[in-house]
Amino acid sequence: MSTQWESLANEHILGIAPYEPGKPIEELERELGIHDAIKLASNENPLPPSDRVQKAIRAALAVLNRYPDGSGFYLRQALAKKHGFSPDQIVLGNGSNELIELLVRAFLRPGDEAVVPHPSFVVYPMIVQAAGGVRVMVMLKDHRLDLEAMARAITPMTKLVFIANPNNPTATIVTADEVEHFMARVPDRTIVVFDEAYIEFAMGPDFPETLAHVKQGRRVVVLRTFSKASSLAGLRVGYGVADADAIALMNRIRQPFNVNALGQAAALAALEDDAHILECVRMIEAGRHFLYDEFKTLGVSYVPSRANFILVDVGRSAADIYQKLLHQGVIVRPMTPFGMETALRITVGTPEENRKLVKALRDVLEKKTA
Ligand SMILES: *Cc1c(COP(=O)(O)O)cnc(C)c1O
Repeated sequence: MSTQWESLANEHILGIAPYEPGKPIEELERELGIHDAIKLASNENPLPPSDRVQKAIRAALAVLNRYPDGSGFYLRQALAKKHGFSPDQIVLGNGSNELIELLVRAFLRPGDEAVVPHPSFVVYPMIVQAAGGVRVMVMLKDHRLDLEAMARAITPMTKLVFIANPNNPTATIVTADEVEHFMARVPDRTIVVFDEAYIEFAMGPDFPETLAHVKQGRRVVVLRTFSKASSLAGLRVGYGVADADAIALMNRIRQPFNVNALGQAAALAALEDDAHILECVRMIEAGRHFLYDEFKTLGVSYVPSRANFILVDVGRSAADIYQKLLHQGVIVRPMTPFGMETALRITVGTPEENRKLVKALRDVLEKKTA
């Protein structure tokens, strides 16, 4: 039967490996007979949404019989004001993931090329492939996006270039200088997508102001999300900033109610909540330094991080260490699917979670557990 269904499928999707979502934490605890497991696997914010945001969500519950505002009027207005754009330069997505999909569907014709860094966010090549586009993968250099090589990879067929900044899974950035040089080499027919999901954790004088390129009228789309620093991963709200004409094209294929009512209410409240973001950013920064010190003591090498996660090299089978950590109630992400056999990606948690991780990692590395 399955071969028959496959023969009916869009041939472009057949080469895509199915995404393997992790099990719910409760299910894992039941299977392994553990409790109080901590999840440091999906780069979520360890802090819940602020009281202000939770209150806004509760207020929105009472009108859930109604469809959400299909234009996201207030949220787009608030985002436009925050960044100095007009609302028609903002598009909302069901997470920024949906915006990657809208971009590809709006602009990538079958046979067009998309330049994609590797290893990076797996969603880019997956969606490009599903659309019948050609993925041009450019390897990272020293765990960083190699913008020189990415610029060289642009051909007359290149429609899109994806730049995750900070990059996932390495947590490294490309700098303002590097982006300037890169943008000077990108032709007008090529759209550059800056995916800045972790920007709040990365801020510094060396971080590029990519919204300025949108203001200058370049073919640039900037993606941001409420999933990380704003603690709203569960509600799925992201946004894109670009030229109004680009946004209008994306809106043609956007589902009218793609961002739900609770998500809109929560995101609007979160925009008023710089204190929450500051608290999270400070906590993550302190957590990164705590973990660096502990990793050094454990002899585990790591890539210095500008995000809320750290790529570590455990110097032995990451799949094995991952399994052993699971039995200690610590869920991390093995990088085996990227061909990085000894690497784990670990999300920075609360101080308590970080201590639990370090203890488990120490036990596992010192083989105190089977
Ligand atoms: C987490 C993450 C996102 C956020 O996706 P949402 O759909 O907004 O939750 C986007 N890009 C990268 C590279 C990420 O790691």
